[in-house]
Formats: sequence, C-alpha cells, structure tokens
Amino acid sequence: MDLVEYQGKQYFARYGVPISDGGVADTVEDAVVAADAVGYPVVVKAQVQVGGRGKAGGVKLAADAGEARQHATDILGLDIKGHVVRRLWVEHATDIAKEYYAGFTLDRAAKLHLAMVSARGGIDIEQVAEETPEAIVRLHIDPLDGLDYATALQLVTDAGLDAEALEQAADILVALYRCYIEGDADLVEVNPLVLTTDGRVHALDAKVTLDDDAAFRHPEWADIEEIGDVDPREHLAKQYGLQYIGLEGSVGIIANGAGLAMSTLDVVNQVGGSAANFLDIGGGANADVMANALEVINTDDNVRAILVNIFGGIVRCDEVARGILTALGRVELRSPIVLRLDGTNSVEARKILQEYRSDQIIPELTMVGAAKRAVEIAGGPS
Ligand code: GDP
Ligand code: MN
Repeated sequence: MDLVEYQGKQYFARYGVPISDGGVADTVEDAVVAADAVGYPVVVKAQVQVGGRGKAGGVKLAADAGEARQHATDILGLDIKGHVVRRLWVEHATDIAKEYYAGFTLDRAAKLHLAMVSARGGIDIEQVAEETPEAIVRLHIDPLDGLDYATALQLVTDAGLDAEALEQAADILVALYRCYIEGDADLVEVNPLVLTTDGRVHALDAKVTLDDDAAFRHPEWADIEEIGDVDPREHLAKQYGLQYIGLEGSVGIIANGAGLAMSTLDVVNQVGGSAANFLDIGGGANADVMANALEVINTDDNVRAILVNIFGGIVRCDEVARGILTALGRVELRSPIVLRLDGTNSVEARKILQEYRSDQIIPELTMVGAAKRAVEIAGGPS
C-alpha cells in the first residue's frame, strides 16, 4: 500500500522523524481553516500518489489567507499525471537553506536493505540519479546489524551534507530506519530532507510504501484511508479478501494456489491469449469463495471468457462445482466459464455440473485444452 504524503508524514512522526505542523483539507474552506491554524506562510500541497507534484503545480506557497484560498481552489480538482486531487495537506512553510535526499528500500538482489543519501535533493533528484549517480551515496545494511548512529553519521558525511546538518541528519536516518523496519515498509523516502535557514533538519516530503504482507502485524493499518482512484475490481476483491491483480487482457482467470494461477497465466499467453487478471482463490477455497471470485471477474468489462483451473487437493472439486452453481444463481455471468477440474472429488464435481446442464459451463480435461478454448471464446489468439 502506498501512502500519500501526509499519511507518510504521520507515519514518520510516530518514529520521531521531524515534520512541519499541518492539517488535511478536502475543501477550499477547510484549507483556509487549516492554514489559519498552522500560521502563515503556509504551503498548500496536493495529496496524490504520484511524484513531481511541485513541477505540476501541486505545491504552492501562500503568504496569507487570500493566497491560501486561491491555491486551494487551483489545486483541488487538478489532474496530476492522471491523478485528480481531492485532498490537500496544508503545512507551515519552511525557510529552506539546503535540500537533501534520504531513503531506505529493500535491495532484493543483494538480499540486504539499501540506504541512499544525497546532498543534492529536491525536485531534480531523478536527473541527479541519471546524470551524476555518484552524487547519491549508497550503503547496504544487513537486517541483523541494523543501522547505528555512528554508521549513519558516516553515511551523511560521505554524502557531503553540510557540517551543521550532520548530527541531526544522522539522528533522522536512525529514526527513519526504525520507521522502515518496525513500520514494515518496503520503501521510505524523504525528498527533500531540508536544512532550514535557522539550522534545523526536517522532512518536507514523505513517500512510504507499506508491505501488505505485514498487515497482520498492524491492525492500525485498517484505519489508513486509501486516497486516490483504486481499480474497482481490486477494491471488490479486497473486500472479499481475495488475492487479485487486475491486468489488461480478455481471459479472466481463477485458480487455486499462486503457482497454478501463474502457470495458467503463462499457458494462456502461450496459446496466444492475454489474461484479464491474476486470481488465486487459495488452498481452502469453498463454494462461497468461488462465487465471490466469479463476481469480481464479472465486473471486468474486458473479460470475454473465464478460465477456471482447479487442482483439487485440500480443495474439493465438488465444493468448487457447487460454488460455480451458487455464483450462477447470484450473479448473471457475462461470459462463459471454461472449466478444468482435476484432483480430489473431480468425478463428483463433473456429475454435479452435468446434472445442471448449463451452456455457460464448458468442461475441458487438460490445462492447455482449457486455455485454448478460453482464448478462442475470447476472440482468438492476438
Ligand atoms: P514533489 O514535487 O511531489 O516531490 O513535492 P515536494 O513536497 O517535494 O515539494 C516540491 C518542492 O516544493 C520542494 O522540493 C521544495 O523546493 C518546495 N517546497 C515544499 N515545501 C516547502 C516549504 O515549506 N517551503 C519552501 N520554501 N518550499 C517548499
Ligand atoms: Mn518530493
């Protein structure tokens, strides 16, 4: 889950990373109220899940209530790279002396955490990364060692931060690392991390990506509001607790187990088709789960055929068959189901489906046969 700036900053604050005072607003009036509360000058900031807001006109300084009102009016509803602004963060403006960059992420190839620090932060960091990559200092961190103050101090020194910023920046790095580790983030990034004209260091922006697989450790994440336009298919799937990823193709896929779901996707591609989604109904899939899965796929306008590929182990195929019948009773499917059922109780399952005699259900015996048939129904190989 990606947090927007103000959510990221609230996350930072919990671990002691200093941020500016601010407030959230969904209307122009509320933006002025928030601005009055934090004191002028303020900065009015678009809350969207995309970078480069500054360059797109989504970050503006206001000296008084009139300017705050004008900026809020301009920024609300603004389209930034396809993300429409519906929420603002208004914070007390900072007098910036220097803009730095700091971040932690997971380096999967190295199987270590990676710290990145630069003295040349700000809105042109991408350009810095491209043209002068040596200006971004990198350090791998073994998760068993963690990051201590001395190492953090060395890192910010190597990155060439100003002398008066070093100790505060090192403290912030240690706090940010804790936020990254204990907060179960895949990425935390501060750009810019600023040195103020009066010698303080703090975070002016926040990018935080939480590791969804750690959600079970964080009941408080349930309260984090999702900002932005989520894919309606993924939204429904999430409500049902399904492992679902929306794709662009025309063959809807349901399989039990992530491995089988991925193989099914591969086979669909191999026979010239394209998948509309990845959906793993898991090892304990019962009739209800199957019906929910079909309902989610049915909301996708691109789907022309649904390929259900189940290998019964713990999952019993007769349960799956009943699930399909439940779904047919609950939703009007817009595409036929090509069905490959094998494994535990597959004979019983076929009998249940034969008795039902729906021309919406097309049985196939093999995975490749089923994929070919589904692709054919979906309009043939592309
Ligand atoms: P981004 O463009 O989406 O990364 O948005 P940021 O939050 O990083 O803001 C972009 C730029 O706006 C920063 O690099 C700063 O130069 C500027 N900015 C943001 N907040 C302030 C502030 O409080 N005071 C001043 N003077 N500039 C700010
Ligand atoms: Mn930024």
